[in-house]
Amino acid sequence: MKPEAGNHKKLSTSTPLIIDAHLDLSMNAMEWNRDLRRPLQEIRDREKLLTDKPDRGKGVVCFDELRKGNIGLVVATQIARYVSLENSLPGWNSPEQAWAHTQSQRTWYKEMEIQGELKSITNLSDLENHLKYWNTNQSEKKAIGYILSLEGADSIVTIAHLEKAYQYGLRAVGPAHYGPGRYAQGTNATGGIGKAGRELLKEMERLDIIMDATHLCDDSFREAMNNFNGAVWASHHNCRALVNHNRQFNDDQLRELISRGAVIGGVMDAWMLVPDWVCGKSTPVEMNCNLEKLIDHMDHICQLAGNANHIAIGSDLDGAFGSEQCPYDLETIADLQKIPALLKRRGYTEPDIENVMSGNWLKFLRKVWKA
Ligand SMILES: [Zn+2]
Repeated sequence: MKPEAGNHKKLSTSTPLIIDAHLDLSMNAMEWNRDLRRPLQEIRDREKLLTDKPDRGKGVVCFDELRKGNIGLVVATQIARYVSLENSLPGWNSPEQAWAHTQSQRTWYKEMEIQGELKSITNLSDLENHLKYWNTNQSEKKAIGYILSLEGADSIVTIAHLEKAYQYGLRAVGPAHYGPGRYAQGTNATGGIGKAGRELLKEMERLDIIMDATHLCDDSFREAMNNFNGAVWASHHNCRALVNHNRQFNDDQLRELISRGAVIGGVMDAWMLVPDWVCGKSTPVEMNCNLEKLIDHMDHICQLAGNANHIAIGSDLDGAFGSEQCPYDLETIADLQKIPALLKRRGYTEPDIENVMSGNWLKFLRKVWKA
């Protein structure tokens, strides 16, 4: 029989818990029209004839695969861009439409909670209760914990919308995404955060919302770090020293993040893992893009930090790319379980490996939510 996606052996109970700090789950549901409750092969099969997106039929994420990989907690995004007349990126023509789009994504998360697929995690007691539940419950269909994050803040129509979002569970915000934004400039753009950005950061600080430094362009990163005194993480980010692109952090930025106690989630989009990747042309095999390359980025950060306390996982899998553009030794997201062995081969100790798989995110969250 031909092996099918998702035909993994059941993992033993000693399989380490994994936290993945960046998955665009609702984007997959509401824009890619993927019912993540279904088996991965079925989701792929349903897309066989679709050609609207390059990753059709190549998804690697669904709830069952998360469970098989013992990925019990994720940071899950809402995402909607506003585009002005001059902006050629895809997006909404008004912040109000972008807000409404994020509300449809939120409705989907809520529905998945009602179905018992997901569980919203918004504070320390939620977190501790969920860990207990996840680690002791033996059932086949455990509810996956999710922390709600907003990737790009364009949809925050007015500053007052941020508190509304906090009230329904938003706990992290990346002020920018790709291109120019209303509150900060993102990947491939330039410029600072301006008055609106400073106001947003001030309100995030008041509400104890985590700032996600990922996607901030260099100018906006500088200003955001100077204007924000709250907790900072970089949910899905690799190193410019290994793949030279403005989407990646340079060593000075990484050192600054480390000094602020940030954790940086290693991202698994192939073009951020190996140099000279050409989107739509390169293939993971010909570019020798495997999970080992992710370890190179993680190890680079550990060398800067002098420890393994600032790296973790923020895979971004199915973030508008599929198996055509991720490590070739990753068939589904359950294969994140291959990472511990790779770290071990590089000389990482058992406690370090546990920290990378979940401990560093947990320490970060416990610190932020205790305050
Ligand atoms: Zn992203």
